[in-house]
Amino acid sequence: LVIPDFTAFCAELERLFVAVRECREGDVASYIPQLARADADGFAMAVCTVDGQRFAIGDTDARFGVQSTCKPINYAIALDRLGIDAVHRHVGREPSGHSFNEITLNAARLPHNPMINAGAIMCASLIAPGLSAADRFDSVFQTWRALAGAGAVGFDNAVFLSERDTADRNFALAYFMRENGAFPDGTDLKATLELYFQCCSITIDAPGLATVAATFANGGVCPLTSERVFSNDTTKNCLSLMASCGLYDFSGEFAFTVGLPAKSGVSGALFLTIPGVCGIALWSPRLDALGNSVRGVEFARRLTKTFTFDSFADG
Ligand code: GLN
Repeated sequence: LVIPDFTAFCAELERLFVAVRECREGDVASYIPQLARADADGFAMAVCTVDGQRFAIGDTDARFGVQSTCKPINYAIALDRLGIDAVHRHVGREPSGHSFNEITLNAARLPHNPMINAGAIMCASLIAPGLSAADRFDSVFQTWRALAGAGAVGFDNAVFLSERDTADRNFALAYFMRENGAFPDGTDLKATLELYFQCCSITIDAPGLATVAATFANGGVCPLTSERVFSNDTTKNCLSLMASCGLYDFSGEFAFTVGLPAKSGVSGALFLTIPGVCGIALWSPRLDALGNSVRGVEFARRLTKTFTFDSFADG
């Protein structure tokens, strides 16, 4: 067993969960009504080890939108299918140092990385562009199901419709990238943006998201089904970019204080991977000024203070 005394480990996670639950700072995202109506005090934590041991606490049945946690998944799908060179002809791999929806490109006039909106829109354009909208979405959706070990993956149509209606910034990003020749030839901007909004509107619960994280921690093989979802190389490359770019312009600070590959979303979702050990999912909708879950970040901080999981620690 990768965590021999799992009961003691879970007792410690529960202690951290209870302590962090006291924190009521931050506000839920309000750019669309569906997110503004989220339960501000909802809180869930789940863990799944690479050998399939699981534990969850809090609002473990709550379904939430994956939002920006879809970005590493879309990047990994594109990488797995097209390879590094083809993907990185269209998107960089450096942190941007800007907020997630900043209108900015790198010196090569490409989005800085796949973990911010511009880069995620670019990755959406790379996913099966020749297929129908239905088949493109289905291939992403089935990937989520495989990553979650067929767990509770769903779709929130109200979120999708309001994302699409409130998308001026994302359209602006897409037109700005097209103006700069960043997309592959023949890209259909509207279809690309709609696929991106649909990916953001996929829903999951904390145990499902922990399994997704565990699949990344396990080299791309889902620990619950033993299905290989992504290659080892794809997984490694995706984790590298999560480590450097996963929390928008808090990524450097998060790497410094927590030191784990992670990805956050504006719904208050946050997943952490401890490569070779486990995946951890947190959901708490109150966000800090940069758009990361306040409790999620605090939990991650306390976790690596309690255990020596930090990728850059001695052990
Ligand atoms: N749907 C959001 C957007 O595109 C996702 C951003 C996020 O989770 N930070 O603006």
